Amino acid sequence: MANKNLIIRNVRVRAANIPLKRPLVASVAQFTHWVALIVDIETEGDVRGRGYICPYLPQTAAAFGRVAEMLAEGWIGRTVAPARMYDEGMKRIQTIGQNGVGLGGLAAMDVALWDTFARAHDMPLAVALGAEVAPVKAYNSSGLWLQDPELLAREAVELRDEHGFSAVKMRFGRETIAEDVQSARNVMEAVPGTIVMSDFNQGLSYSEAVNRLRALDDEGLHWFEEPIIYSDLAGCARLSEKMRTPIMLGENFHGPRDMHEALKANACDMVMPDLMRIGGVTGWMRAAAIAQQYSVEVSSHLMAEISAHLMLATPTRGWLEWTDWLEPILKDPFTVKDGEVHVPDTPGVGVEWDEAALDRYAL
Ligand SMILES: [Mg+2]
Repeated sequence: MANKNLIIRNVRVRAANIPLKRPLVASVAQFTHWVALIVDIETEGDVRGRGYICPYLPQTAAAFGRVAEMLAEGWIGRTVAPARMYDEGMKRIQTIGQNGVGLGGLAAMDVALWDTFARAHDMPLAVALGAEVAPVKAYNSSGLWLQDPELLAREAVELRDEHGFSAVKMRFGRETIAEDVQSARNVMEAVPGTIVMSDFNQGLSYSEAVNRLRALDDEGLHWFEEPIIYSDLAGCARLSEKMRTPIMLGENFHGPRDMHEALKANACDMVMPDLMRIGGVTGWMRAAAIAQQYSVEVSSHLMAEISAHLMLATPTRGWLEWTDWLEPILKDPFTVKDGEVHVPDTPGVGVEWDEAALDRYAL
């Protein structure tokens, strides 16, 4: 039975380079702007689905967009079937690799397909995935980069108070171990009782990580994220064995299989898939099922609006990572209150673009 609301008429792909309120200074890179690849799907029944991913580099955003367009070209006139189209898309990108740019482009399409599917059925995305709309506990990840340890205390208070957050994330990888330890103490003292996650952005060698993580292991941090290069699963497993603080990996899992490999190798104690790299909504749901079998908590990485819906459908839900980086291009940013993100009770993800802002920041 053909449902006009689900037949794809047109797909539009564009990119925006959005200025950041607080520039990102990590050990791995620095950013003053944040790139979003935007996908809009129009159906014969005039349903308009929306999706976005964040492909990091403005110079290569077009490559992700081209993959999304290539997939879309084959799907005009077809009925939206997100999980089926994910499998087709995976076959289509086989020759360029089922990861990186290929998987990211597929993820961009997958998110927009799921949004279209949910809107066509008049359901919030979380409901279309079999869950319910509810507030999602989140930590504020919008700051606490590698600044001067003195400035961190003030920013930690700011981030906590922004929307009554009970958790924030700070970054490590300063010149000396002593500076990192001092930074941790400054933050913990500034926001007592607040949960503090930590991220090393893969900046350390294995032996550096042993020393630095040992020095930080008693500071009460909630997790150590990506201390060393993400693909060294054996090294991560050895660190996890040595440290009391849980090791967190996941933003660099390219597809659900990477998560399975990491969990099989005991490389981490917690996971945090990235919507784009894990393969969109479909990739996320398949990864979430794997994490459940290992009784491992799943948190999210960036792209908070869409990830919030996915967290609601994730059996071993942990923490939603909250950043406000997309807000400049959103008509109605999500409500965040008492440290919880409120998914709107409207069809789809609940995101509409501020078209004037998209024009202003067009890439
Ligand atoms: Mg990270």
